[in-house]
Amino acid sequence: FADRDGVIWLDGELVPWREARVHVLTHTLHYGMGVFEGVRAYHADSGETCIFRLQEHTDRLFRSAHIMRIAMPFTKAQLNTAQRLVVRENKLQEAYLRPMAFYGSEGMGLRADSLQTHVMVAAWDWPSYMTPEAKELGIKVRTSSYTRHHVNISMCKAKANGHYINSMLALREALDSGCEEALLLDNEGYVAEGSGENIFIARDGVLYTPELTSCLDGITRNTLFQLASECGYEVRERRITRDEVYVADEAFFTGTAAEVLPIRELDGRVIGAGRRGEITHKLQSLYFDAVKGRSEAHTGWLSSVSP
Ligand code: PMP
Repeated sequence: FADRDGVIWLDGELVPWREARVHVLTHTLHYGMGVFEGVRAYHADSGETCIFRLQEHTDRLFRSAHIMRIAMPFTKAQLNTAQRLVVRENKLQEAYLRPMAFYGSEGMGLRADSLQTHVMVAAWDWPSYMTPEAKELGIKVRTSSYTRHHVNISMCKAKANGHYINSMLALREALDSGCEEALLLDNEGYVAEGSGENIFIARDGVLYTPELTSCLDGITRNTLFQLASECGYEVRERRITRDEVYVADEAFFTGTAAEVLPIRELDGRVIGAGRRGEITHKLQSLYFDAVKGRSEAHTGWLSSVSP
């Protein structure tokens, strides 16, 4: 992935893709203390390329840094500009963006003093995270044998690099057992989230999603709250058990990468009709309308990458 054309924004400058390197003693590489975002730009129907909910992603990056006590050497405005710039400079019509703040190789050790925060933003073409069939038919999920982070072990409001060891272990286990995604429970056994997605279920026309205690404060989750309320669906945040998912009428994941992704099966139990349900379908279409700029009411969620 390092050997390609293009540019990456690193510490305030655009550098050729192949030259955006770090030293092997990069602190974050050793201990995982860094924060990042996953952001997406879509080719809107107007012909413009727009980043979806850019400000919210940048705000979350700064909140993550604040939680982890990582000093940010750039302003939010500078990072917004950088994100729009990398999409433009790489001539991408649609893109996945990866801003990350990390510690450099100025020193070693857990005290993490005398370190500098470095910031990078890369953007690349990323075909759909899931196949078009998965968006319609839904995916097969298994409850993970790994527990999602306990709030007092690692803080889930931060999208921190090291947290993703847990996600990767869970996803690998799910893939190895023939599923497409993992569902992680919190330390008390209640549903938390997917390896990189929030979860919703629908029952008798009401949507339910876990409280934010041990899941990421997802921007797509927040988008879905808005879209659901606009079409008259109530969303309740509360604890959910895995067997509630088994007997739900519908279930779906949300995330920047996964978008709105139906779940057709959990732990061998078919959910509802075993394919995308009606409410999921409706919300999924509204989501695609919003990201593609087809929804007048939500053009405020789009930031054009044009200068
Ligand atoms: N949970 C986890 C663990 C994630 O990594 C993500 C992806 N950032 C999400 C939920 C969904 O968040 P968002 O909708 O902001 O992409």
